[in-house]
Amino acid sequence: MTYQGVLTKMTTEFTEPIQYYLIFENDFIHINQLLDKTIQLEFVGYQCLSCGLNKPIYRQGFCKSCFFDIPQAADWIIKPELSKAHLNQEERDLEYEKRVQLQPHIVYLANSSNVKVGVTRKSQVPTRWIDQGAHEAIEIVEVPNRYLAGITEVALKDFVADKTNWRNMLKNDIEDENLVEWRNRLEVHIPEEAKPYYIANNTETNMVFPVHHYPIKPKSLNIIKSETYVGKLVGIKGQYLIFEDDTVFNIRSNEGLVVRLNIA
Ligand SMILES: [Zn+2]
Repeated sequence: MTYQGVLTKMTTEFTEPIQYYLIFENDFIHINQLLDKTIQLEFVGYQCLSCGLNKPIYRQGFCKSCFFDIPQAADWIIKPELSKAHLNQEERDLEYEKRVQLQPHIVYLANSSNVKVGVTRKSQVPTRWIDQGAHEAIEIVEVPNRYLAGITEVALKDFVADKTNWRNMLKNDIEDENLVEWRNRLEVHIPEEAKPYYIANNTETNMVFPVHHYPIKPKSLNIIKSETYVGKLVGIKGQYLIFEDDTVFNIRSNEGLVVRLNIA
């Protein structure tokens, strides 16, 4: 079977284990069914997720000119504390910013290689955790807009990491943490404005990933440079495909690339 299309992050289904789907214009590929099969991956070109042109991807699946222009790539996406729609202030497109920022957001703790704090729209729970390859996560606050989530995250970063180690995540070099205890310890550091939104009574969510074999020394595949790669798929974790020879391919960081998949 051969499939060709532009990469966007895999869609997931929260079952045990997680189900992964790659969506191309004409095909819907259930990646779990490709486990233990040999896959050939070929780089074909680029297709910016905004303008659709065959231009090199700069960041987040967008070409450089789109990245510096469209509302979906503004700074407040990565730095939620810069959100201003709640003040009625425009960054790039106020209507878009209101739609995305003025909705329930969650500040959470997720453990993928270590415990980290993060922000996501409530509608993205547990998708966001799955995308990070977290095996456990818990909500800390549910706030009505992105700004409040952002300032909470910034305050908590002094006491908990905000980065993870993707190699440890993929190697499954992980420890189980009691996230309820972590949350209880962090409560006191939540900013005053967000304190009323603290969630005191929930439990951890646990994620199980479809991995038959974890890599010992994960090496990241640069498909643009190598143009083609062949390997046996042995796992999927976060947004990574894991192959038998320890090669790993991050679908999310390759968004906007047009690839061809040949399944033996
Ligand atoms: Zn573009």
